[in-house]
Amino acid sequence: MTEKSENQISSLQPKLVVGIALALAFSLLLATIFLPKNDSYILYFDSPTDTKTSLPAIPNTPSTTDVEDTSSVESSKVSSTAETSSVVSTVSSTPVVVEENNIINYKSRQTYSMMWKGIENLCKEYPEFLSYSVYGKSTKGRSLPLVKMGTGAKKGLIVAGIHGTEHITTTYALRCIEDYCRAYVNGGRYGNYNLVDLFNKYTLYIVPNCNPDGSEIAHNGDSPLVSVANFKRWEYKANANGVNLNRNFPFYFDGINLMKNPKPDNEYYKGPSGGSEIETKELMELCNENSFSFMLSLHARGNITYWSDVITPNAGGITSGLCSKIQSVTGIVKTSSPTSNPSSYGGGFENWFRYTYQRPGICVELMNAGITGSTSGNEQNFDSHTIWYKTKYLFALTMDYVS
Ligand SMILES: [Zn+2]
Repeated sequence: MTEKSENQISSLQPKLVVGIALALAFSLLLATIFLPKNDSYILYFDSPTDTKTSLPAIPNTPSTTDVEDTSSVESSKVSSTAETSSVVSTVSSTPVVVEENNIINYKSRQTYSMMWKGIENLCKEYPEFLSYSVYGKSTKGRSLPLVKMGTGAKKGLIVAGIHGTEHITTTYALRCIEDYCRAYVNGGRYGNYNLVDLFNKYTLYIVPNCNPDGSEIAHNGDSPLVSVANFKRWEYKANANGVNLNRNFPFYFDGINLMKNPKPDNEYYKGPSGGSEIETKELMELCNENSFSFMLSLHARGNITYWSDVITPNAGGITSGLCSKIQSVTGIVKTSSPTSNPSSYGGGFENWFRYTYQRPGICVELMNAGITGSTSGNEQNFDSHTIWYKTKYLFALTMDYVS
């Protein structure tokens, strides 16, 4: 191709482009005027009429009830029933529920399954400091949980939930475990206590619920195995056999004459014989297999410690002093005189422990004295009902005192 012919072609190109553009514009004009306006045609150019099908699913805004009954993870699950696009703009600002204690939801009563899930998650979070096992089975076959916290050679025992309705003691025990673990890994300072020092000395054996059948009956719709007199679900204190476990230990068992009903009862039945119940046997075995320096049995009726009876007026020579210390730190009032009525001390776990080992065994009624009636505390008001800001030091001060 010569230089002249190249120049001729280049001079033709702008004219060609303009011509093609004009032809296309004219074609589009004709199409707009003459083509039919049916739906199939319009669909290619407009948005789909059913916009809902293409929107992303919308996370639920958790209601108060959801948060109480499930973990914060579950409350953020995606809803498949979300409907309106107007909510989409608010999704990113939906608050994430983060509790101070984000493993144990202490604002919710701990059902059996929640308790175990919490124990497992705590042990995953603090594997060097915390472990768990099953120390036996309940009357209905539920696993009895034992959590070990600390690394020390000395042992202390904490038992919660011996009375079914007093579920808040289970919540309290689990919250303590989490709170103590967090403080331990963050330097150990816990109020006036050094948890690193205390747990180098001690391992706490913590039973978050020694009567899971009773608490499932009281708070989760389960049923006793036998016909129970005076049955009131929300005030149910016994095990699945209608036996009050804190009157079932083989300690002055025959002296108990205030058990109003000789048959399975909501509260007032000591059982056919001392140590007849599997839950009682398992606790006794746990104590016999370990040399516990002290035992705290957690209850939720009142704001008081029961630490003395005429048989064991000051077990180990230190129980009185320990309870004075508990009162000064936590505000939980120390009873003034030894229990003298066999109906009050016969068959009691703490009484049996003191007599058997001559060491402190104390019934600790955690609840704010102003909280009475059938509720035995309500997790929605956990902090005020347990007077948490003071009672949370119970484990630490006891380890410190019984050194
Ligand atoms: Zn109780």
